[in-house]
Amino acid sequence: MDFRFTESEEAYRAEVRGWLDENIPEWWRSGHRDAREETEGDFERLRTWHQTLYDAGYLGGTWPVEYGGQGRTQVENALLQEELVRMHAPPTVNGLGIGLAGPAIIHHGTESQKRRFLRPMLRAEEIWCQGYSEPGAGSDLANVQTRAELQGDKYLVNGQKIWTSGAHRADWNFCLVRTDPDAPKHGGIGFLLIDMATKGVEVQPLVQINRNRGFSQVFYTDVEVPAENMVGKPTEGWRVANTVLGYERGAGTLSRSAGFEDRFSQLADLARETGANERPLERQQLAQFAIEIEILRLNGLRSLTALAKGEGHGPESSIAKVYYSELDQRMARAGNALTGAYGQLDRGTDRAVADGRWSQRELTSRGVSIFSGTNQIQRNIIAERVLGLPRR
Ligand SMILES: Cc1cc2nc3c(=O)[nH]c(=O)nc-3n(C[C@H](O)[C@H](O)[C@H](O)COP(=O)(O)OP(=O)(O)OC[C@H]3O[C@@H](n4cnc5c(N)ncnc54)[C@H](O)[C@@H]3O)c2cc1C
Repeated sequence: MDFRFTESEEAYRAEVRGWLDENIPEWWRSGHRDAREETEGDFERLRTWHQTLYDAGYLGGTWPVEYGGQGRTQVENALLQEELVRMHAPPTVNGLGIGLAGPAIIHHGTESQKRRFLRPMLRAEEIWCQGYSEPGAGSDLANVQTRAELQGDKYLVNGQKIWTSGAHRADWNFCLVRTDPDAPKHGGIGFLLIDMATKGVEVQPLVQINRNRGFSQVFYTDVEVPAENMVGKPTEGWRVANTVLGYERGAGTLSRSAGFEDRFSQLADLARETGANERPLERQQLAQFAIEIEILRLNGLRSLTALAKGEGHGPESSIAKVYYSELDQRMARAGNALTGAYGQLDRGTDRAVADGRWSQRELTSRGVSIFSGTNQIQRNIIAERVLGLPRR
C-alpha cells in the first residue's frame, strides 16, 4: 500500500503552510491559543480569522465553485485541514453550518437553496445550529415531536429542542420536525431551515460541566417558516438527517489524528516536567497512546481513500467516532492525573497547571462520547450495519 501523496498534492500542502506561516494573526500567536468559539469576546476575532481564511481560498475546499467553494479534491482538502492543525492556526467558526448543514443542502437541497445559503455559510456571515435533540428524542432521534404543519405556503412550527450548540448566536437552525404524525416514525419527518430571528423562537442557554454556555434549549411557539425552506421532500427528512450524521461522525480524516499528535506532545511535555516519564507505568501508557494515534491516522487514511473514490461516509464512521472519543477521554484523564491536585484549578487561577488546560480537557471530553450519537448507539450501528450481526 502506498501512503505517499503526489507531487502536486505536496506542493499544495507547502503553499498552505507558507500562507499560514505569514498570516496566522499576532493576537493568536501571542498567547490566545485557548480562544474558543463559545467564549464571549473570542467569537468575533475568530470570525474575522475565518473570513481571512475564506477570502484567501482556504475554506470550503471540496464544495462546488459556483456556490463559493474551492472545488478541490478530497485529498487536497484533507491536507489543508491537516496543515491548519499542524501549524496551530486558530479554529474557524460555523462548524455546524459548514460541516453539517452545508453537505445536507449540497446533497438534498434545491438550486435556489444552494444559491441562497451556501456562500454566506462558508464566509460565516450566517451562523448555523443543529436542532435535532429533544427531551424525548436523543438516541431515539426518529421520535422527534416538534411539529411542522403546512398552512398554505408556510409551516407553523411548535415544540422544543435541547442541547442546541451555538443556538445563542446562530442566525439559522437546521431542524428535524414532524410533518406527518400519522406516518410510521421515520417516514413523517422533515428537514426544515428556520431563521432564528423569526417571531416565536426563544433561546434559553444552559451551563455545561466545563462552565461554558455553549448550548441551549430552544422553544418554538407558532413559528412561521416559508415552505420553500424544506430540504428534500417533507416526509423524507430522515434521509437528509442521516447524510448529516455520516458527516458528523466521520469528520476530519487527517486533521483528527494531527490534533491528537499535538495533544500527545503536550502530554509528553507534562510527563517530562513532572518526572512521570521516568516511571514504567506512565511510560507504557504514553507509548500506548502513541500507538493508538498512529492507528487513528491510518484509519483516517482509509476513510480518505474511500472519500477520494466517491464512496461517502458510511456506517464505518461510527468506528472512528467510538475510537477517537474514548482515546480523547483516556488522554485527558491521564493528563489530569499527572497534574496532581493543582490540576483541578481553573484557567486564570494562581498556580493553575498549564492554565487549567487538563481539567478543562477532561471535563469537555465527557461530552464527546455523547454528541452526534452516544457510543452505545455507535456500537449498535457497528454491530448491525457494519458487522451484520442480528438485531436482538
Ligand atoms: C456537548 C454536546 C453538544 C451537543 N450538541 C447538540 C446539537 O448541537 N444539536 C443537537 O440536536 N443535539 C446536540 N447534543 C445532544 C446529543 O446528540 C444527545 O445528547 C445524544 O444524542 C444522546 O441523547 P440523550 O441526551 O437524549 O440521551 P438518551 O438518548 O436519553 O440516552 C441516555 C443513555 O441511554 C443509552 N441508550 C439509549 N438508547 C440506547 C440503546 N438503544 N442501546 C443502548 N444504549 C442506549 C445512551 O447511550 C445513554 O447512555 C449535544 C450533546 C452534547 C453532550
